[in-house]
Amino acid sequence: MSSCEEGKINIMGIILDRLDYDGALKRIEDFLKSHGLKTIVTPNAEIIMASRTDEELRKAVNGADMRFPDGIGVVLASRIIGEPLCGRTAGYDLMEMILDMAARRNMSVFLLGGKPKVADEASTNIKSKFPGIKIAGTQHGYFDESEEEWIVDKINKSGTDILLVAMGAPKQEFFMLKNRPRLQCSVAMGVGGSLDVLAGRVQRAPVFMQKAGLEWLYRLVTQPSRIKRMSVLPLFLAMVILYKFGRFGEKAL
Ligand code: UDP
Repeated sequence: MSSCEEGKINIMGIILDRLDYDGALKRIEDFLKSHGLKTIVTPNAEIIMASRTDEELRKAVNGADMRFPDGIGVVLASRIIGEPLCGRTAGYDLMEMILDMAARRNMSVFLLGGKPKVADEASTNIKSKFPGIKIAGTQHGYFDESEEEWIVDKINKSGTDILLVAMGAPKQEFFMLKNRPRLQCSVAMGVGGSLDVLAGRVQRAPVFMQKAGLEWLYRLVTQPSRIKRMSVLPLFLAMVILYKFGRFGEKAL
């Protein structure tokens, strides 16, 4: 049972669902029972900052059926604006819970994204971690727009229930938005670099760092090339404070 009071919060024009894991899973179960594709995105500080200047991205994120908060940045922002989220949540953990649910309910999952071979390696590891799960198919994430139609056909023909789109933001959000009318699965979720982790090519931070909200620090130390991307975090928090105190006019937080 969810102990979190559900709702929505608006951080600089991006709407986030105030949900904990139980609430999110409950909603996903409803998605799986309902008609048509439902999409899930996991906005973090970086995506919110990018969407300030990228209207298409903002539309893609706000147009998803669930916007599950990802990372410590959005938790701090929600506290700054006085509408706290239900604590730190991570898209990766929700994705693992979806895989667990798929295994228990005999549902199938298609893995799209990552460099060639990554989705296949992830598939092998998923099958041993979640016995009974059906992997409907895999496809790497390096393709031209001209190949998209063929890839959507491949996903549809696999008959998958759930699609994990692991092409990083904003590529995965645009893929889901554009192909939404043609995709025939029940749920599609953007999962960033998660297949690299599932494939064992990238390590997640130790649990104590995750719990302390320091996953970003671990990523920075282990992948220093991310420094430019990560430098948006302090800027993001500064902007949330400025928005709160009206420096950006009446625009919604
Ligand atoms: N990727 C992809 N197609 C592309 C560009 C990237 O499949 O055209 C994959 C890339 O191989 C990596 C993931 O997308 O697995 C992005 O990972 P990153 O850690 O940057 O994503 P984040 O979790 O930070 O959103």
